[in-house]
Amino acid sequence: PSPFSSLQPQPADALLALIAMYAADTRPDKIDLGIGVYRDEAGNTPVPPSVKAAERLLLESQDSKSYLGTEGDMRLLDLLAQLVFGPAATPGHHLAAVQTPGGTGALRLGAALLARANPSAQIWLGTPGWPNHALIFGNTGMPVRTWRYYDPQSMRADFEGTLEALNQAQPGDAVLLQACCHNPTGTSLTLRQWDELASFLAERRLIPFVDLAYQGLGDGLEKDAEGLRSILAESPSALVAYSCSKNFGLYRERVGVLWVLHNDAHELDLARGNMVSLARATWSMPPDHGAATVRIILETEALKAQWVQDLEEMRARLSWVRSELATAHPEFAPLGDQRGMFSTLPISPATVRELREKHGIFMPESGRINLAGLNRHSIDRFAAIMLPYIR
Ligand code: PMP
Repeated sequence: PSPFSSLQPQPADALLALIAMYAADTRPDKIDLGIGVYRDEAGNTPVPPSVKAAERLLLESQDSKSYLGTEGDMRLLDLLAQLVFGPAATPGHHLAAVQTPGGTGALRLGAALLARANPSAQIWLGTPGWPNHALIFGNTGMPVRTWRYYDPQSMRADFEGTLEALNQAQPGDAVLLQACCHNPTGTSLTLRQWDELASFLAERRLIPFVDLAYQGLGDGLEKDAEGLRSILAESPSALVAYSCSKNFGLYRERVGVLWVLHNDAHELDLARGNMVSLARATWSMPPDHGAATVRIILETEALKAQWVQDLEEMRARLSWVRSELATAHPEFAPLGDQRGMFSTLPISPATVRELREKHGIFMPESGRINLAGLNRHSIDRFAAIMLPYIR
């Protein structure tokens, strides 16, 4: 018998098919709003100057590529913790950290830990969300529950709907929350709603699993962490998945962190030991090049200043695209209140197809657009073409 004959075909990645269609299109004014990476005005995804400089330093100073250990670069973990949790850290919590291959690795490791710790716990995902979340948690065998996070009518987060749905969650269930720059809607909770959600989760003993993949690309480094910090102020235990892919432009280098926070030191040690053992059985050691690059940036004053500037440039450009669209027509106004790279337009798959065929505008069927795909030359044309469709 063939070892693979019983496997089921898996759905192809829709974004990859879109990239191929875009590449094959010969229209000079085609617009790519599909793939989820930052782009500058010229349509490139550059290596930020701070990263280039740190890589040069790394190349000169690195004298060994011997293993660092399963937990990764401990100094990097400390530096990132300061960025994420603030200088006051998180009083009341003990912290365990493991460096992971990207934010995806952090989510995967956290999911495996939760599934091992409590096999009957469910994971709650808001919809729409990042499709990989369902894939990752589903692969650990965790039962996935969903709730309507987003109201397409108002193009805002549906906070009441969120609380109502989470009322059905059982103590010990985990709730995945995107900390800022929500993929794919760009929406966020207000700080007051974050506070309310924080108490709600703590009262019901639901475990927040916060995904922070875009720190600095919404309202700035500190503000983008406020929702997360508000959750941590209430919850005795939490998981945080962090990605350096977007804010350091390090995508393919795979830099991420999983933190577990807990108020009991002995139990946290158990969690740490299991995180390390699960990571050992999965990738053994995380990749180092990108991680060492981020560490050098964060520990070198001049490079950190440069990085803050690099990040601000990306953030300001995204914010410029948003405000241009928001003021182009009242129907686009909600985009101005959203943050980050993505928005989901209230249009049907048929409209998405028509936009592609008739106008050379490429986006996935969900209507998610990456605003970084627009520039000074294309933005007015895009707004004009979209107008009849989103009315
Ligand atoms: N979370 C969200 C919401 C994301 O959009 C992404 C990247 N698309 C990630 C996590 C993980 O990214 P990576 O694994 O590339 O660091």
